[in-house]
Amino acid sequence: MKIINALIVDGTGAQPRSGEVIVEGESITAVEPPGTVPPDAADVIDAGGRVVCPGFIDAHSHADNAPVLAEDDLSKISQGVTTEIVGNCGSSLAPIRAGDDASFAQGPGRLFGIEPGGWHSSAEWFAAIDAAGSVTNVCPLVGHGTLRQAVIGPTAAVPTEDDLAAMGDLLDEALAAGAFGLSTGLIYPPGRYADTAEVIALARRLPADRVYASHIRNESAGLLDAIDEAVRIGREAGCRVQVSHLKAAGRANWGLVEPALERLDAARASGLPVTQDQYPYIASSTGLTSSLSGWLLDAGPAEALRRLRDPDALERLRAEADPNYDRIMISSTRSHAYEGRRIPELADELGLDPLQTVVRILLEEELHVTTVLFTMSEDDVATVLRSPYTAIGSDGLPPGLGGTPHPRLYGTFPRVLGEYVRRRKIIDLAEAVRRMTSLPAAIFGVPGRGTLARGAVADLVCLDPDVVDHEGSYSDPDVPPVGIGWVMQRGRVVIKDGVWGGSRHGLRLTPA
Ligand SMILES: [Zn+2]
Repeated sequence: MKIINALIVDGTGAQPRSGEVIVEGESITAVEPPGTVPPDAADVIDAGGRVVCPGFIDAHSHADNAPVLAEDDLSKISQGVTTEIVGNCGSSLAPIRAGDDASFAQGPGRLFGIEPGGWHSSAEWFAAIDAAGSVTNVCPLVGHGTLRQAVIGPTAAVPTEDDLAAMGDLLDEALAAGAFGLSTGLIYPPGRYADTAEVIALARRLPADRVYASHIRNESAGLLDAIDEAVRIGREAGCRVQVSHLKAAGRANWGLVEPALERLDAARASGLPVTQDQYPYIASSTGLTSSLSGWLLDAGPAEALRRLRDPDALERLRAEADPNYDRIMISSTRSHAYEGRRIPELADELGLDPLQTVVRILLEEELHVTTVLFTMSEDDVATVLRSPYTAIGSDGLPPGLGGTPHPRLYGTFPRVLGEYVRRRKIIDLAEAVRRMTSLPAAIFGVPGRGTLARGAVADLVCLDPDVVDHEGSYSDPDVPPVGIGWVMQRGRVVIKDGVWGGSRHGLRLTPA
């Protein structure tokens, strides 16, 4: 196949250049100047002067469950994403201890909204991905919260030496089976109950080229201490560090991303391979339980539900609660009640105060509630995007939860190109494409992808840089991107003008 009339953006950060791309089988075999392909050649795709670039790599996805859903998850491929790094924020779908499926599903597995079935070890889970197939390529991390659940359960218990060794053995098994690294979610139970030494002990098991990716312990007033902890873990464990979805949440903390980036720059200058990722929005999205004090879940989800009915516990939650309920929108619930609505509005309707409203919803939905939180500043989003070490990651919550998910699930990559490149000119097109391709490929060790060059796998996107955008909103997120012409995986066009070809052509990848 010959792609002619292309404006090639090769993913390295080099400026766009006109050219032709020759694809044979699954690989790029040549990148040529314009006019090389004879006019009468067969099997030609005319890019019409539009950009042709490497398929995007979503540096931070939670679509772990996509392969085992009956429905094809098109949320990422429609954006031009051909590879997703999953298993983030401490939550992966394996390993699960035999007999622990139900507790896992209510604990670290709650995020995914599915009942695990048929797998326990990482190798079994990876085999399940391979058997089910996937729309995008999948690069799995193993989650520390999942490891902790498998060995010591959902509580705040301190691991014994034996527990720590058992968690390490499960991590070794996951790495041997093809995991790309270890993730932590140090605000989420049960990962949040780990001290720094526990994480270092596990991260030491990582080979130097595998990544430790962290949803760090604090993204608000304690941001800088949390950055320091991530850097310390990388130094003492001798591994690469990825700070997930770097941000400063809460008006009082806006601007803290600047000293945070300075600390990351200093760590890099001293030799630590550390980078970060970001989604291009001022709202975040997570479980509603994260809006309440961390001790609520320290004895597991069943005890948390009991505590939510206990007047004394409620008084303690009230004393510690963040009063900014108007920043919380419910995005999905198990029953699909309350979706798309903000807490104060629901409180009025229910005749309750805001905390009572939160508690009512958590009890009714047995904690299965996700939210969108309006907490960041546009200036900070731009500051983080300007760092050349910021990769783009959607942080989209798992597909299939329904409701009104954060629009990042459907629009992260087109939005960077439309809003932050074309309209606001925060970074240029070639640099934005680099952050979506070769940078995450290098961070995570994604094999054969991330640059448009001879010998690379032909995962490609054709897009119109003057049009590409996502017009989804917080109230109406699930709209298709515009300006994505076609998406190719391994030499096969799988989406053309927004129409999906219908077969899962992604692969589970193993580290380069
Ligand atoms: Zn996270």
